[in-house]
Amino acid sequence: SAPLSIVRGAGEAADHGVLMRTGESFQALRRVTTMVFDKTGTLTEGRPAVRDIISVDGEEDTLLALAAAAEAASEHPLARAVVEAALARDLTIPDVTDFQAQSGRGVTAQIDGEPVRVGSPAFLTELGIDLALVSDGIETAEDQGQTVIVAARGDRLLGAIALGDALRTDAAETMQQLHELGIRTALVTGDNERTARHIARLAGIETVHAGVLPEQKADLLREMQHEGRVAMIGDGINDAPALMQADVGIAMGSGTDIAIDAADIIILNSRVSSVMTAWRISHWGYRKML
Ligand code: ADP
Ligand code: MG
Repeated sequence: SAPLSIVRGAGEAADHGVLMRTGESFQALRRVTTMVFDKTGTLTEGRPAVRDIISVDGEEDTLLALAAAAEAASEHPLARAVVEAALARDLTIPDVTDFQAQSGRGVTAQIDGEPVRVGSPAFLTELGIDLALVSDGIETAEDQGQTVIVAARGDRLLGAIALGDALRTDAAETMQQLHELGIRTALVTGDNERTARHIARLAGIETVHAGVLPEQKADLLREMQHEGRVAMIGDGINDAPALMQADVGIAMGSGTDIAIDAADIIILNSRVSSVMTAWRISHWGYRKML
């Protein structure tokens, strides 16, 4: 990546919380016709918290303790929220061996000689676990924009955990401004369709791509590029290939180092509205903007 100092206007942009890594990214942003936003950590605060626990046998604490054990070594924000909730209840978190994370799906760990799996409903369903006992609860929570993860010990369902993550306060206003400029907006997420639709509706985003696995995000971008120039705005490890594929990759400063390294533009203050700031600077330059 190029040194920031060679980019004209970079200093002024940085005053507004926007780092441009190259002059080309600055130019390319002018011609973008679609902006694709990641959901978790980009449109939302990225700090999910446990809102509800649905245990199939009424043993909420056992479910939470086992889920926290399996998630303890995961860096995923959902995993951190589960561990925090277990600690807040003073639960004893059992020891695990053989921790494995499946990106965009969930985690598996051995506890007392049995595999405990925690992940998306789609992940556990793929593994042959019947979710019928919690499916009503899952739908209700997802329709409210929550993300639901499910847990199983061996092939037995333990229950579901619903997590909520607040939409960033400036998201809706920013989407409206982008639309006024004729820029199309889309949301891409590994999360499920119901949750994604709810968040898109709140933010006023036009198009939703849900259930997209990390390895598919870049392919999706490539397809969208047939229709015009595309900017991707993301924060996660999962977003890095899409950030590189995009005509302009924009990373949230609060995001992972891998996403930041993959991006052309970095939003230091992690405000969604800084996307508009970047666009304005790319069009009119900093001084004319004021
Ligand atoms: P996003 O695109 O919203 O950043 P990810 O691709 O990281 O989401 O994950 C997609 C889905 O996979 C999550 O909504 C969740 O259901 C599941 N998932 C991924 N990692 C974990 C984990 N560590 N624990 C539980 N569920 C997970
Ligand atoms: Mg994210």
